[in-house]
Amino acid sequence: MTLRARLTLWYAAVLAGVLILFGGAVYVILSVSMTRQIEQTLERTADDILRASQRSVGGITLLPPLDLTANVYVEVFGADGALVDMSANLSASQTSFDSAQLTAKVRTFSNAQAGQVHLRVLTVPIVVPPGERIIGYLQLASSLETVVQAREMLLLLLITGGMLAVVAAALVGGATASAALRPLDQVTETALQITRADDLSRRIPRSGPANDEVGRLILAFNESLERLEHLFETQRRFLADVSHELRTPLTSIRGNVDLIRRMGKPDPESLDAITSEVDRMTRMVQDLLLLAQAETGKLPLASAVVELDTLMLEVYQQAKILAQDKVAVHIGREDQARVLGDRDRLKQVLLNLVGNALEYTPPGGRVTLALSCVEDWARLTVSDTGPGIPQDELPHIFERFYRIDRSRRRTAAGGAGLGLSIAYWIIRSHQGRLEVASEVGKGSTFSMWLPLHMTRPPAMADVRPSPAREARELEGRQRTR
Ligand code: ADP
Repeated sequence: MTLRARLTLWYAAVLAGVLILFGGAVYVILSVSMTRQIEQTLERTADDILRASQRSVGGITLLPPLDLTANVYVEVFGADGALVDMSANLSASQTSFDSAQLTAKVRTFSNAQAGQVHLRVLTVPIVVPPGERIIGYLQLASSLETVVQAREMLLLLLITGGMLAVVAAALVGGATASAALRPLDQVTETALQITRADDLSRRIPRSGPANDEVGRLILAFNESLERLEHLFETQRRFLADVSHELRTPLTSIRGNVDLIRRMGKPDPESLDAITSEVDRMTRMVQDLLLLAQAETGKLPLASAVVELDTLMLEVYQQAKILAQDKVAVHIGREDQARVLGDRDRLKQVLLNLVGNALEYTPPGGRVTLALSCVEDWARLTVSDTGPGIPQDELPHIFERFYRIDRSRRRTAAGGAGLGLSIAYWIIRSHQGRLEVASEVGKGSTFSMWLPLHMTRPPAMADVRPSPAREARELEGRQRTR
């Protein structure tokens, strides 16, 4: 059963229930109060007769005229049950209205029937002192026809009126439910269209108020669609980037294999080229795996105290060898700083930053490493006098496969644009942050911020961002690309 039908049914059923309760109450109250009125008339008449009568132990000595009202019938019986007198509106052949009551000790109301006519009967024992001896009975009756008719009329009115009201309520309820649920049909239709056309760029148009239930549903649905669209777009771009990056080494391998085949024997240069490309692909696949682990917060990290100053010195030694006198490598400020984390991963990040600085800094340039403590944080910087990074590129520098100018890459073994992305995630996994400041033509400074290892927890250590939120931040930036 549809929601619309269920709502309509509920609406009608509730109204029918209310009407039945209300109608039943009116019916009972009406019949009780009308009967009560008749009973009061009977009682008043009985009192009048008794007041005007004279009684003695032997029996009733004087009765007033018994034609008081047209709708009240009176009979007077002796103690033996014999009819003594009756009102003028009764025929001579009249017997007791309700003979069963002629033994009653107190005033009693009862129902009786005379032919088709329903009667309300009051039996009053006529008593005389001493000892309240019963010397006879007064029996009064009144027709209940007005009550019966009023009840029938009311019943008819309640049934027809109630049915009309329920039908009207069902119609109005159905129409209201339809109007209220129409936007849901739109949601369903759009969802189906999206599935059919495989088009996540569609959105559900919002016509009604935005803050009602349906408005909020549409808003949430549209937000989910937006998020899905971005996820698919990211995935699509990721696949395109991966295939693009794999194509170059594969083409090179293919070319070298063809060359070997044509030459008829393996030539060492081609074999070297193949090995180098295979290494490059292996590196890339490893990097991607690492990135996937880091992005989802599943990167296994050791947690030990790391002396950053010692680590920086190690990297400095390596950098000097790598620089081969083409670029001058220096150490700037060198505070002592201890952090908690994975030494190898932190070294990997620092090496990556230094590697980039050396790679992009032209001969005669300068690369400086520095370590300082700022409040509860350790700041490790790698500055260079390289070409710098344009301001509009800076927000994207940590994205996967992002390279500023592909032609700017100088070494054939250069990375695929994953190095900074991996560095970013490793530092985030250490509850730190990686920042870059750069000026075109002057150089760049990459800063690793890590919470210092102290006896009391650092101020920002507990605000570790969730991997999911991080992913959203990065995605947000990727969208603007
Ligand atoms: P890659 O492996 O290509 O170097 P990265 O992720 O390490 O990838 O770096 C991304 C891009 O950022 C590089 O392609 C380069 O364009 C730019 N970049 C990184 N470090 C520097 C730097 N020190 N100076 C100038 N540009 C840099």
